[in-house]
Amino acid sequence: MKLSEPRILAALPELGVERIGGASLAERTSLGIGGATDLLLIRRHSALPDLIALLRGAGVAYKFLGGGTNLLVRDGELPWVILQLARQEPEIRLEGNSAHVGAAADLGRTVTFCAKHDLGGMEGLIGVPGTVGGALRMNAGAYGTQIGSYVRQVELFRAAGVRIETLRENEISFEYRHTSFAPDDIMLAVKLELPSKPYREILQGIRICNEKRRSSQPLNQKSAGCIFKNPPGGSAGRMIDELGLKGFSVGDARVSDRHANFFVNAGHATCADMLSLIAQVRDRVHATYGFQLENEVILWTQ
Ligand SMILES: Cc1cc2nc3c(=O)[nH]c(=O)nc-3n(C[C@H](O)[C@H](O)[C@H](O)COP(=O)(O)OP(=O)(O)OC[C@H]3O[C@@H](n4cnc5c(N)ncnc54)[C@H](O)[C@@H]3O)c2cc1C
Repeated sequence: MKLSEPRILAALPELGVERIGGASLAERTSLGIGGATDLLLIRRHSALPDLIALLRGAGVAYKFLGGGTNLLVRDGELPWVILQLARQEPEIRLEGNSAHVGAAADLGRTVTFCAKHDLGGMEGLIGVPGTVGGALRMNAGAYGTQIGSYVRQVELFRAAGVRIETLRENEISFEYRHTSFAPDDIMLAVKLELPSKPYREILQGIRICNEKRRSSQPLNQKSAGCIFKNPPGGSAGRMIDELGLKGFSVGDARVSDRHANFFVNAGHATCADMLSLIAQVRDRVHATYGFQLENEVILWTQ
């Protein structure tokens, strides 16, 4: 979508919002799939209420992009604009055992920054790519750690009230790859409380997690991590593997040979290829195990 409403175009510079015309989502997502649209880069959080009011007033649909590591996006010209937060300086501020982190900060860099200041707990999250905002939305987790466990407070833009609010931990629930945030809430910053731990000990934990990832995941291929959520007490990857579906492909969309719950773009996969692969694998699992796998990857395909 190309923004053409003069009132919006005129307001963007005053709001500190940069418009990037024809931004390719294939270049901005880890799967490398997706069409193009205008992207609005937001430099000041305080601009959000006015920006959203303007977009809504003009009937312009929008979606919010973090690091693009958990997304499957449709091809062709996209029917919505993309909003994204620009990184802010400083991204992380420490105060005792609390870390105040901007939502646009890289999750991995946040884990290592805190580690260098003897704040641990998040070692398991080290290889989860993407932003802190995306991790909050997804309640990202790995190796027994989930970000929600450390959240004390979240500052967010609530689209319902068109205003910025702060929620405390007791007002938010974090479950397995699910949170109680409204679908159109935009996370702006978080206060994490982390246990004190010597850097050397944290580093040891980080090394172990990195090694586990390297040995089990196709890290040099384009993917969005796990496609499906694990069923309670089970493993989606194990079920797919047991069905002999590693390597199964539709066009260039392929079930990884390394990890059966990672679907990779092995060349020029289209969104339709990936959707067809997801549907076929889900059907095969359902036919054999009677379980309907739920997507972990977020679809921007409508
Ligand atoms: C190689 C690889 C390994 C992975 N391993 C793991 C893993 O171990 N555990 C795990 O949980 N995930 C894993 N993932 C998936 C992904 O990295 C996480 O879900 C990550 O937290 C997504 O963050 P993002 O910034 O990239 O979000 P995006 O992909 O950009 O967005 C995902 C969703 O979050 C929303 N969102 C993003 N930022 C915000 C914000 N500030 N406010 C509101 N909504 C927002 C988007 O609108 C979208 O709905 C992996 C992915 C890859 C490619």
